[in-house]
Amino acid sequence: MNDFGSETFLRFDNVKKSYDQTNLVVKGFDMDVRKGEFITLLGPSGSGKTTVLMMLAGFESVTSGDIAIAGKSINRTAPNKRNIGMVFQNYALFPHMTVAENLAYPLTVRKMPKAQIKERVAEYLELVELSDFGNRRPGQLSGGQRQRVALARAMIFQPTLILMDEPLGALDKNLREQMQFEITRLHKQFGFTVIYVTHDQTEALSMSDRIAVFNDGVVQQCAPPAELYERPVNSFVADFIGENNFIPGTVTSLEGSAAKVQTDGGTIVAQVADGLMEGQACRVAIRPEKLFIPPTTHAYDNALTVRFTTRIYVGDFIRYYFDLADGTTVVVKVLNDLSAPDFEDGAEAQLLWLASDCVAFPAG
Ligand code: ADP
Ligand code: MG
Repeated sequence: MNDFGSETFLRFDNVKKSYDQTNLVVKGFDMDVRKGEFITLLGPSGSGKTTVLMMLAGFESVTSGDIAIAGKSINRTAPNKRNIGMVFQNYALFPHMTVAENLAYPLTVRKMPKAQIKERVAEYLELVELSDFGNRRPGQLSGGQRQRVALARAMIFQPTLILMDEPLGALDKNLREQMQFEITRLHKQFGFTVIYVTHDQTEALSMSDRIAVFNDGVVQQCAPPAELYERPVNSFVADFIGENNFIPGTVTSLEGSAAKVQTDGGTIVAQVADGLMEGQACRVAIRPEKLFIPPTTHAYDNALTVRFTTRIYVGDFIRYYFDLADGTTVVVKVLNDLSAPDFEDGAEAQLLWLASDCVAFPAG
């Protein structure tokens, strides 16, 4: 991970956006970004991610609030004066220009001398492993190659800030993973700051220094990947990041950071989420890989009796489906080794887990 300075490079200060003077689609976005950070805006479709990026790029106005780079407000700075590189899913390359001409374009606009442009274009073609493709037109490239050209074109004028909006959305899984790795490598090598938009949580977790989780124009949590995954602050984040089971119950007592929760199948102990109160209905979130099926050597605090329904072979692991006493389905992921058990249809089983691996959120 990068070693960032403590200084804020980019700041969003209570940024709001309405397209129709009535409804806010971004409802007071705050964020301090340090130089060289890789920040991802993650959230479902329509949650306001692209709108934030458009305001930062200058293609949309800010309804209220302020965006500042290096301490200076850019609200009134023209898009082409912001010196920001951009890669979008459908950010068309110029189809009538060759790859090399596409790369030269941002430099020509910036009036770089011709000889220097030639050198720089060769350098960036090599960087994205397209040295032999300079004379092709975009139409003669694969989707992955086109996105590498778009990436090189965004970086070639060496901006300090690069925005990417679902840049890999159109690529298939293998190519997407390869490009994720490429982007991460280039980011490490050059140290530019990235604001990356995606609705793909795996992509966000694997690439980012920090992730801001959006829902309905509001950031739910902004944290490094492991913190989002291990300590989601609310059930939206717990549900959106990775996979979670939710066991319904009622809080019978609170002691420090632990809650006793009465469920249909018995009492369990969980970590307490913000806002949880005694007597309240709650949902206990527990991840499929944190549940253990006996015999196991893992320590545990909680045990529930469940009924086996389905076993699905996924390859590297096995997915088990069980029903709780109240009918709630619970998924368990077990590594595909000799310990992965078999069950008769409808067989009774036990699920075991640690109190520190589950969190009780207020229901609703
Ligand atoms: P996301 O990128 O998270 O999918 P967007 O920022 O594109 O979300 O959209 C947020 C909300 O703003 C959506 O309800 C969308 O319909 C609306 N919206 C986006 N762009 C415009 C626009 N140019 N005019 C009017 N409404 C828009
Ligand atoms: Mg979008």
